[in-house]
Amino acid sequence: MQYAASIKYGGLLVNASECDYEAFRNLGLTCPHCHESVFLVQGHERHYQKTSKVTEVASHFCHRPDKNKDAIALCELRSRQITSTEIQRRETKSKNQRLQLFNRHLWNILLTCYKLKDFENKQQSLDSGFRSVCKSESNATVVKNAYKDFLIGHISSYSGSIISEADFFFSDLMNKISDDKLVLQEDLKAILILWRQQIDAKMQVEIYKEAVTCLLQKKHLPILEKLMVASLSNFVTITALSVDLNLGDSDRLQIYNSFFTGEISLNKETELDVYQTLVEAIVTQDSERLSAVYHFVRDDVLETIAFTPWAESFAKFS
Ligand SMILES: [Zn+2]
Repeated sequence: MQYAASIKYGGLLVNASECDYEAFRNLGLTCPHCHESVFLVQGHERHYQKTSKVTEVASHFCHRPDKNKDAIALCELRSRQITSTEIQRRETKSKNQRLQLFNRHLWNILLTCYKLKDFENKQQSLDSGFRSVCKSESNATVVKNAYKDFLIGHISSYSGSIISEADFFFSDLMNKISDDKLVLQEDLKAILILWRQQIDAKMQVEIYKEAVTCLLQKKHLPILEKLMVASLSNFVTITALSVDLNLGDSDRLQIYNSFFTGEISLNKETELDVYQTLVEAIVTQDSERLSAVYHFVRDDVLETIAFTPWAESFAKFS
């Protein structure tokens, strides 16, 4: 059989020839007709002993061997009759199901990403950092809101290029996490290896684009704001550490990892200096500094969206 339906992607039809072997076990693949589970047989050469003939066997899906032969034949027959219209219909249906899921559970799904594990702490430290520098609660709120407006405005106006660069961004991320030097922490390494093995890269990029589009809709902006709060807090942490260790931007991921392994700790004074610079930058509209903040926050937010286990959540929340 050429096609199987993926439970995790809302019944989306998966073509055996395009099925990623590492990812297929995680997709929850079933027969589109009898709905029983099927398994992938990868393309291979078949050697006939008697005639020493060799034929190519294309990748395909098989039912369990103990299933009734006539029933299998019927499924195979119906599978050959699947039209491009049917494939398209399933794709639209699957996409609509995801949109419904985003509307109801977007924040909860994002929270399954390891990068948001300590969201509450990040939110609190950002609030108290701005408060210490601004001296009053109301000034701190003004600064925080100014950053939210600035960052959301920028992300919205560059949303076109964010979507069109999605494939590149994603493959770059895949390369980064496969580099052992960048991912030092064992826990994090394990999370990322599992993530890499379980995702279907093509679908993950598609859903990433859908999630970005969704987050930019007016009703989801409060969620985008939360993501930015976390990333702005990361900006402060990483910048303070870079200053203390006298390191450049390119070492960002390594610094991040060393910090979370507890190899290095944050100097509170340097941290407050970074908050001071942030406040000055927004008050004076220092375009160079603001641009650096924007680039950091944008990439950090996009990494969170990219590393979210969407397929897992699809199964969990639907
Ligand atoms: Zn079947």
